[in-house]
Amino acid sequence: MRHPLVMGNWKLNGNKNMVNELITGLRNELSSVDGCDVAIAPPFIYLDQAKHQLSGGRIVLGAQNVDINLSGAFTGETSANMLKDIGAKFIIIGHSERRTYHKESDELIAEKFAVVKEAGLVPVLCIGETEAENEAGQTEAVCAKQLDAVLKTMGAKVFENTVIAYEPVWAIGTGKSATPAQAQAVHKFIRDHIAKHDAETAAKVIIQYGGSVNADNAAELFSQPDIDGALVGGASLKADAFAVIVKAA
Ligand code: 13P
Repeated sequence: MRHPLVMGNWKLNGNKNMVNELITGLRNELSSVDGCDVAIAPPFIYLDQAKHQLSGGRIVLGAQNVDINLSGAFTGETSANMLKDIGAKFIIIGHSERRTYHKESDELIAEKFAVVKEAGLVPVLCIGETEAENEAGQTEAVCAKQLDAVLKTMGAKVFENTVIAYEPVWAIGTGKSATPAQAQAVHKFIRDHIAKHDAETAAKVIIQYGGSVNADNAAELFSQPDIDGALVGGASLKADAFAVIVKAA
């Protein structure tokens, strides 16, 4: 019933040549593949170039962040309406790198969720615990708190046509992915947590796994009932590896 989504988060990587080569490679690798939604989120500065290069294909454009303001004196920021204007659809919010390096709070991320929905775009809400929280047995409490920031202000219905990415911080960029069973348990917890408010919405929401997903571990992760695709960092920078992950979904 749920259509999986595999999305590449390019983070702070790339230049004009690389964008050109990677998108050309991806289009070749994925031309005959369907059955799962595919998106890439290049850095803001390359979104327009990427949009042109994706033209007529099946890969959808995403972005890595958004500001809560729509216009005005906010130097250096990018609004949801601008992202819509440029042709982006999926907007990553609350990535752990933004929570850590830019001190983004649950409340700010909930505001970003609201502006993305308001613009008619699809938020990809990243949640997940740190290694210390994991070892202290706080994984579920942390995920619940991060979800509640949205649930309490906007209700569960707001999760219709949205994506949640469970990204345990200890698995990001470490080569140490959560096991399929570990990830499945948290994904089920996330879905059940939303279902307490609205079972129908919970059954439909896409829950991606993120954290050291690669060509070797993707298929087993995707075989789990509550894992609906992946948010991929490092492996999304190589067309062949990303294509294997897409094909596994
Ligand atoms: P890696 O796939 O490099 O671990 O990154 C995951 C991630 O942070 C995607 O948003």
